[in-house]
Amino acid sequence: MAIKSNEIDLLETAIMTLKTQRANQEFEIFKVEDKQAHLQKQFDALVSLIAELEHHERDSLQALNNKYQLQRKQHIHKHEESLTELKETITLEIEKAFDENLGRLVEEISTLKKRKSQLEQDTVLQDQDLNRRLIKLKEDHSKKLIGLNQSLDESLIMLKSAIEQVSEDKRTKEQQLQALLSSRQSNEISANNECHKTLHNLKLESRIKEEELLALKAGIALLNTELHATNELVAQMKREIDSYRDKSADIHRLMEHKEEIRRKLHNKLQELKGNIRVFCRVRPTCGELKPLANIEIPDLLLDDDSPNMLMIIRKPGDENFNSNSVPYQFLFDKIFSPTLSNSDVFKEISQLVQSSLDGYNVCVFAYGQTGSGKTFTMAHEADGMIPQSLKKVFEDIKTLESQDWQYELHGQFLEIYNEAIFDLLSPTKVSRSPSKNNPKKYEIKHDDVSGTTSVTNLTSVSITGADHAMKLLSLANKNRSTAYTKSNEHSSRSHSIFMLQLHGRNIKTMESRYGTLNLVDLAGSERLSNSQAQAERLKETQAINKSLSSLGDVISALKLSQKGKPLQHIPYRNSKLTYLLKNSLGGDCKTLMFVNISPFATNVNETLNSLRFASKVNATSQLRSK
Ligand code: ADP
Ligand code: MG
Repeated sequence: MAIKSNEIDLLETAIMTLKTQRANQEFEIFKVEDKQAHLQKQFDALVSLIAELEHHERDSLQALNNKYQLQRKQHIHKHEESLTELKETITLEIEKAFDENLGRLVEEISTLKKRKSQLEQDTVLQDQDLNRRLIKLKEDHSKKLIGLNQSLDESLIMLKSAIEQVSEDKRTKEQQLQALLSSRQSNEISANNECHKTLHNLKLESRIKEEELLALKAGIALLNTELHATNELVAQMKREIDSYRDKSADIHRLMEHKEEIRRKLHNKLQELKGNIRVFCRVRPTCGELKPLANIEIPDLLLDDDSPNMLMIIRKPGDENFNSNSVPYQFLFDKIFSPTLSNSDVFKEISQLVQSSLDGYNVCVFAYGQTGSGKTFTMAHEADGMIPQSLKKVFEDIKTLESQDWQYELHGQFLEIYNEAIFDLLSPTKVSRSPSKNNPKKYEIKHDDVSGTTSVTNLTSVSITGADHAMKLLSLANKNRSTAYTKSNEHSSRSHSIFMLQLHGRNIKTMESRYGTLNLVDLAGSERLSNSQAQAERLKETQAINKSLSSLGDVISALKLSQKGKPLQHIPYRNSKLTYLLKNSLGGDCKTLMFVNISPFATNVNETLNSLRFASKVNATSQLRSK
């Protein structure tokens, strides 16, 4: 209870405290409210003051503007007034200054006028002074003149006396001269006499000379008549020479004509002999002691132009001999027995060389088995057909020169091996490996219009003389042999072809001739039995067989067509050899085939093969009657 009453007491005290606090706060609120009312009053008073002030401001702005306008007008007026005043002042000043200056100028003018009159006076004074001095000078001058005149007169008198002196001297000198002259005259007279004598002598001499001159003149006249006679003689001789010249020209023309006729006749003769001819050459034994084949040439003693017959009769010891063997007979345009030399052979073909100079294409072939004498016939260094042909060409060119013909020769030397071309005059080393070391492509080109053939990249050498040609041949032989390991064996497996192009030009008639001489050493014709042949050999053999049989086909076809058989197909394209020589085979070209045969019994079969080939080529010859 006590606690409760305590608590109540405490509460009552707290309530009392709170009540006091509330009364304090109410008082405070009252004070604040009073302050607010006061402030409201102040605020209202200020608002009304502001309104009054705004009104007042408007009024005062108006008043200010009015005042400004008024003042501005007053200022302008004042300014104008002062301006007018200023103008007046300035005008006054100017007038004043003008008046002042005018006075000064008038003064200056009067000063100048004074100076002028002063100067005029000075001038007059100076003039007077000058006049005085002039008069003085004149007086001095005339005085000097008089003095000079006097001295001149004196000098004149002196000169006159000098002249008189000189005249006196002259007179004396003349007298002396006169004396001298009279003494000289007497000297001259004696000299004159001397002269007269000399003159007389001279006159005598002159007369003698005149006589001599007359004699000479007579001599000259005589000589003149002689000269005249000689001139006459000379003229006569000239006339004769002219007529000889005319005759010589006629003869020349005749010779040209004869040359043309000769050319035509020569060609006719060749044609009559046959544009395609086949010769047989039997090789000598050359000391070899082997059994001989039974070869007979019964026609050998017949005249030159008849075909010759060659007979072979197999005998015991020959290959394939049997007791039924009958003689084989073959006809040839010419047969060369073993005893005949290369020069004998060349006699027959030299006419073809002439044909090539006359502008025809010529081919000479050597056909036969290896060892039968083809190379000996064609290329023997001393007298083979190639060297002899070249010698003859250069001899004939010399003769033709006198008939105004000039020739240019170009030589090419090539080889066909395995159907590929090799350049034997190549300045670089010749290789036989066509695929590997033969980068140059040799292509055969025919010009059908001009009928000429060329091989691209093939060396062509302008040949200047027989010696030059020989050097080329030995170069070709060297190229041929160095390119092979087994020289002889290989060279017999290829065709070698020497081509000589001959271009003749007549410098008078401007006529031109183009001929080609082809000299061909063919590959060996022997047949290798296939079983024997190694692969490489087989290829070679096939290439050789193909080209040799193509050559046979081409020549026999040509021969048939020349004999008037219906148009033949000429299979030039079947081998490189026939294609290369296309323009030199057929038409009016001349072809000569040597068939070289061996004399030995062991070679009879190959000999017969060669002879059969010759028969095929020479088909129509066999039809000829003996
Ligand atoms: P091929 O060229 O046909 O193979 P060669 O011309 O090499 O034949 O001749 C073979 C050999 O016979 C060579 O030694 C050659 O000198 C010789 N010979 C060939 N024909 C004659 C001949 N008419 N006179 C002298 N020797 C010859
Ligand atoms: Mg040979």
